[in-house]
Amino acid sequence: MISQDPSANIAIPELPEELSGLADLALNLWWTWNPKGKNLFRLLNSYLWKESGHNPIEMLKKMPKEELERACKNEHFMREFHYVLALFQTYMKDKTVYSEEEPLPIAYFCAEFGLHHSVPIYSGGLGFLAGDILKESSDLGLPMVGVGFMYPQGYVRQIIGSDGWQNGSNETIDKDVAPIERVLDGDGKQMILQVPFIDPPVYVAVWKINVGRVTLYLLDTDIEQNDPWDRQISSHLYTPDMNQRLRQQIVLGIGGYRVLEALGVEYSILHLNEGHPAFALFERVRYFMEKEGLSLEEAVAGVRKTSVFTTHTPLQAATDVYGFDMMSNYFSDYWQRLGMTKEQFMEFGINPDVSDAGFNMTVLGLKMCIHKNGVSQKHGEVTREIWKNILHDEGVQGTIEAVTNGVHLPTWLGDELFEALDQTLGEGWLQVQDVPQLWERVAELDDKTLWNLHYTYKVRMVNFIRERVRRKWSDEGIDPLVAMAEGVMLDPDVLTIGFARRMTSYKRPDLILHDLDRLEKIINNFAQPVQIIFAGKAHPADNPGKKILQHIFKTAQDPRFRGRIAFVEDYGEGVAKYLVRGVDVWLNNPKIPMEACGTSGMKAAINGTLHFSALDGWWPEGYNGKNGWVIGGESSDDAADAASIYDTLEQKIVPLYYNVTEEGIPAEWIAMMRESIRSIAPHFSARRMMKEYLQKFYLPISHTVTAYRNKVHPEGTS
Ligand SMILES: *Cc1c(COP(=O)(O)O)cnc(C)c1O
Repeated sequence: MISQDPSANIAIPELPEELSGLADLALNLWWTWNPKGKNLFRLLNSYLWKESGHNPIEMLKKMPKEELERACKNEHFMREFHYVLALFQTYMKDKTVYSEEEPLPIAYFCAEFGLHHSVPIYSGGLGFLAGDILKESSDLGLPMVGVGFMYPQGYVRQIIGSDGWQNGSNETIDKDVAPIERVLDGDGKQMILQVPFIDPPVYVAVWKINVGRVTLYLLDTDIEQNDPWDRQISSHLYTPDMNQRLRQQIVLGIGGYRVLEALGVEYSILHLNEGHPAFALFERVRYFMEKEGLSLEEAVAGVRKTSVFTTHTPLQAATDVYGFDMMSNYFSDYWQRLGMTKEQFMEFGINPDVSDAGFNMTVLGLKMCIHKNGVSQKHGEVTREIWKNILHDEGVQGTIEAVTNGVHLPTWLGDELFEALDQTLGEGWLQVQDVPQLWERVAELDDKTLWNLHYTYKVRMVNFIRERVRRKWSDEGIDPLVAMAEGVMLDPDVLTIGFARRMTSYKRPDLILHDLDRLEKIINNFAQPVQIIFAGKAHPADNPGKKILQHIFKTAQDPRFRGRIAFVEDYGEGVAKYLVRGVDVWLNNPKIPMEACGTSGMKAAINGTLHFSALDGWWPEGYNGKNGWVIGGESSDDAADAASIYDTLEQKIVPLYYNVTEEGIPAEWIAMMRESIRSIAPHFSARRMMKEYLQKFYLPISHTVTAYRNKVHPEGTS
């Protein structure tokens, strides 16, 4: 272990004695999903709160000392402060696990985590799922630790040129104001470990983020012990350079496992979210052999029984495959160490249908874990079908089950709606959020309250978008057509459709533009107009995706649409929160069956934003005929699906929205919003998802391990 000077460790400026607890609050992301926590920082200085992009560390660093001292004398602030601090301390100490029994500790590995915009270590849906899983595990009291990557230059900020072409600029994480801390070793220096058996050696520095009661450990290769090529291993998410990508995954899987070992994090369940970290399985085999003295066969069997693999793609072609030569460059020492031949080692990653293609990370996960799952019921069926060759393989155990994704309700519900639910559902509702009967009480949320809330979110969203364009206008002097395309003419009184997701072919972002003449009639209907807001990034290497984006942007610049089509730049967690609450309809039209699950529609639906979606991913489970609308049929066809969108808009969605009572309220629409919240929140909450992981995988594994331990070390003998 090599160490580094900790003097650059994150430093919250010295706070007045009375306010020292603020540092604890700022260094734990708990506040991000607690309306009272957010409000406390806002109370402290609402201007700096906004300017810092809702980052308490940055805000505290910018606050003059005198102002902090003044805050100590502000009775109202101090009352709130003591209250929030007590809530936080109680939350942290609470040992309750909302399950009949406590499972063994779980190590959750993922290549990205979407937690908050102050820690930009995510690219999209996979990361937000992982982030929601950590937050919910914290709320549930599950003994989980996360393992991921610190991407020092990983976040791509999207900048769209006046020609509609996406340019990216890489943003560097400001380690001084992000809520990350160095993990220190016994000498008080930052922990730095060598990733075993990589030659020349690669070192990783270890950081951590507090996610409520869960700790997320992050590996960082950007340190001086590494040569320049190695320093960049963790610099970008999902690099297209296959050699660097392989090195990334070696560091994440094998290095990540080593970090847990070094920290003495005792755990017995390994959960791999997607194939990227799957090399951890080999390191686990090695650990079982060297530390527990098992034979290779016993160790592999032990790993199989105690590891969980979640797959997210419905396509064999979308998985990572590495050439055998490339693999041999890194692993020839490693397989010897495991007592395997090259053939035995490679066999774990070979897809029998294309046995010469190389080493496949998803195949490794499927072969080495009994417990495996897809992320919606439909995706479960699709993956069982595409991987049936593997599932029928000799030695491969278990099938691919389905655990439908869910979203962390306290993160994605609007604060005011959350508070309205406190009133309507009753105190303590979060603890029983996955009980469908609880949500019957949403019937008591009256029309006016719900509509006013929604309208407030809509106005806030429109103001946010316009304000951004205003800044761009004044800072860069953009062309008026660009200002129009970026949403300066949006109107909160117009029925608003939102489409915000990755700009990539299978999601068909420009499907609604299929027949522009027909769309124009819908948008410019004099008495019942419609506007559409798009947002989303294309992967930097995805040119077809960038072309789709450009097509949308150019259409938005076309004066015939009168500023009612907008493209909002730089989609991320902050923009997503405005959009999922602020638009009226959430549009989702992937090519079936390419959307494994999709979670943005859930975030919309729990806020009363109605889902309008193809029958793919979670929607076949979520749709009940009254809580949204369906696009097209069981399979996809661009022309037919576009026609289905227009028909449904013309015949159902637009008339319903503009059918208002004497008081100017669309009562039937609001009834659908209520139905959306009632029927979708309990089933698609992260709580329901984590309880399923617990019941299906974590508890059975815990039982197996306990039984094994009792056999090896009968009580009293160890
Ligand atoms: C939820 C979320 C996603 C994932 O949404 P999909 O429906 O899977 O496309 C992507 N990006 C952000 C910022 C999100 O909040």
